[in-house]
Amino acid sequence: MHVQCVVAGGGPAGMMLGLLLARAGVSVVVLEKHADFLRDFRGDTIHPSTLEVMYELGVLDEFLKRPHQEVRQLTGRVAGERVTIGDFTHLPTHCKFLALMPQWDFLDFLAEKARAFKTFELRMEHEISGLIEEGGRIVGVRVKTPTGPQEIRADLVVGADGRQSVVRAQAGLVVDNLGAPIDVLWMRLSRRADDPGQVFGYVEGGHIFVMFDRGDYWQCAFVIQKGGFDDLKRRGMDAFRETLASIEPTLRDRLGELGDWSDVKLLTVLVDRLRRWHRPGLLCIGDAAHAMSPIGGVGINLAIQDAVAAANILAGPLARGACSDADLARVQERRDWPTRVVQRVQVLAQERVIGPALSGKGPQQLPFALKLLRWFPMLRRIPARLVGIGVRPEHVSHQSP
Ligand SMILES: Cc1cc2nc3c(=O)[nH]c(=O)nc-3n(C[C@H](O)[C@H](O)[C@H](O)COP(=O)(O)OP(=O)(O)OC[C@H]3O[C@@H](n4cnc5c(N)ncnc54)[C@H](O)[C@@H]3O)c2cc1C
Repeated sequence: MHVQCVVAGGGPAGMMLGLLLARAGVSVVVLEKHADFLRDFRGDTIHPSTLEVMYELGVLDEFLKRPHQEVRQLTGRVAGERVTIGDFTHLPTHCKFLALMPQWDFLDFLAEKARAFKTFELRMEHEISGLIEEGGRIVGVRVKTPTGPQEIRADLVVGADGRQSVVRAQAGLVVDNLGAPIDVLWMRLSRRADDPGQVFGYVEGGHIFVMFDRGDYWQCAFVIQKGGFDDLKRRGMDAFRETLASIEPTLRDRLGELGDWSDVKLLTVLVDRLRRWHRPGLLCIGDAAHAMSPIGGVGINLAIQDAVAAANILAGPLARGACSDADLARVQERRDWPTRVVQRVQVLAQERVIGPALSGKGPQQLPFALKLLRWFPMLRRIPARLVGIGVRPEHVSHQSP
């Protein structure tokens, strides 16, 4: 089998790239190792910039018919005081909110839209196991499938296979690890009709806890120091439930839903970046090029923006059968700076906010920067812009390749 582009991984980056390339008439096959998109290990945030991409594709109204929650403000409790940190309602986008939608619904939607193009194919349960290299150029992939091993040849292989990317490892691309001193515990608690909505974060008493409204339940994230899970387990589930109740007492009567540690998943956090995102015949995007921390909830945004930039730059050369290494370098040139800016902010937040907060040296009173947000509500537009749009936003090209 030969296609113009094979994409490794059906996450946000891979599915969006597949859709955009197929829309431009490029033959593309997306390979996803799992049988479905139904995994909990996913952020649920659909940013205003991603909603803008949906608008530019002409599918926004249909997308918003799917069940979702709309978050217009980011609120939290810091050192016992409630504070609004970001206000999306002034963003220069069609949707002035962040949508919360289970990521499997988002990916299903992208798959449905992509299948409308006859040059698109999505193959589930297809796991990339290796790369095919000829004369220093990557010319295809080796794939494990339910019916046995296969080879797929392509003019371009895109690694969008996430933080543990097989593609980037097999390609021998050099990774710079920027360090992440935290991990996240991920769990569900039921949500009552009279609970407050939206996203709520807590930074106090040596703990960081975030609750995402998923309709009938809260998806909860409890941030721990890297390697701290075993310690927590040793202290026992009762102690853990008590910690959560001390953070948000209204949750106390449903903490019994956390029966044992199998109800609490450990999500390992990484922050890293490839020095070079490409080799002749191969490009990495999304977390495969730059693993993002959950801080700010912006990794999906960056992954989608990478896909839009890659499609804008590469659809023409791929359609002409002439995708050069210089074209691939242009994708990195375009996306490297936004990635560096966001990762710098994430690493600073880890060092200056998250680290001290987890070690109990966090703020005893509302920090001055947050007081400013309280006194001057206009300033809340700045964090909203960083999270909702980011730097150097991408727009879908409507030129035919
Ligand atoms: C705990 C945690 C919480 C987070 N929460 C948020 C959040 O709320 N909002 C946000 O914006 N970001 C969040 N992030 C970051 C976000 O998850 C990533 O930045 C984003 O998922 C990157 O998208 P991607 O498409 O590049 O990779 P992924 O989403 O990782 O997708 C990669 C896909 O490739 C598939 N795959 C892997 N290997 C192979 C293979 N060999 N062959 C075929 N397929 C393969 C995987 O199954 C997967 O479907 C969080 C990260 C962590 C660790």
